[in-house]
Amino acid sequence: MPTYDYRCSKCGHKFELIERLSEHQAAHKCPKCGNDRVEHVMAAFYARTSRKS
Ligand SMILES: [Zn+2]
Repeated sequence: MPTYDYRCSKCGHKFELIERLSEHQAAHKCPKCGNDRVEHVMAAFYARTSRKS
């Protein structure tokens, strides 16, 4: 399943979600401040591999 990066337009908090395409259409909320205006950060597709620390 693809991973999507989001950034909150209000507090700037960045978070990552693993979701299906159908879920991806739904609105997301910032886990930090609860703002529902989050930006999708496309860079995830290019920069990220399955690197885990
Ligand atoms: Zn936020």
